[in-house]
Amino acid sequence: MAVTRKPVVEVRRSQRRRRTVSAYRDGERVVVLIPDQFSRAEESEWVDRMLARLAAREGRLARSDAELLARAARLIDLYLSEHGSAVAPASVRWVTNQNGRWGSCTPADRTIRISHRVQDMPDWVIDYVLLHELAHLIVPSHNAEFWALVARYPRSERARGYLEGVAATAAIP
Ligand SMILES: [Zn+2]
Repeated sequence: MAVTRKPVVEVRRSQRRRRTVSAYRDGERVVVLIPDQFSRAEESEWVDRMLARLAAREGRLARSDAELLARAARLIDLYLSEHGSAVAPASVRWVTNQNGRWGSCTPADRTIRISHRVQDMPDWVIDYVLLHELAHLIVPSHNAEFWALVARYPRSERARGYLEGVAATAAIP
């Protein structure tokens, strides 16, 4: 069984805050920002709540990185198996710093990054985004050979339509 260590919590009260509470990790500590007017009871209630929220967020990201790698292995098996080790990525992970693209691939070091914005999309869309980046390990550019690899995934066209729809909606102010 895993031992869960309670992190060191630093509570900062702010007179400028009215109702909002936020928390972030700073090394080994967790800093929780609360309004100055909170009572001790409210403070302790909110610290517990923010710690739970932080743990859920971090747990989800950690689990998903492993899941993403397993997903990549399955897609390679199904659609790109004849390329063998040439298509094995060095790493596949979720990233939050990629807002202009759904995914990216660096063939030189064989790393793949998928935007966290894809995380809540349907499985078949995540599969498409991932397969697209895996195919770049074989063909770096968007040429006919590349699209032929991607088209092996039966829902490629549909997934591209889905992503275009999301992009168009996001662009509406
Ligand atoms: Zn591409």
